[in-house]
Amino acid sequence: MRDKLGRTIAKANLPSKTCIICMRPFTWRKKWERTWDERTTCSTRCLGAARALRSGGGGGGSTAAGADAEGADSSDGSDERRGSVR
Ligand SMILES: [Zn+2]
Repeated sequence: MRDKLGRTIAKANLPSKTCIICMRPFTWRKKWERTWDERTTCSTRCLGAARALRSGGGGGGSTAAGADAEGADSSDGSDERRGSVR
């Protein structure tokens, strides 16, 4: 079975969203089950970026630097471009 993007759907038909930061699709995960509704980003790193954007890039707060243990499902290396300032 395939979805409209032409990708094969996993056994369980999990919900998915598009990351608001890197615009890549990400899929529901067990550990996100309680926060899925409010989740808009694919990873901790993107979540940090989203928060930075929302707060105007200042204000600080708790940034989980280097704690991107969740990661993305498939890293294609294009992440590194996001180091540039928007
Ligand atoms: Zn992302």
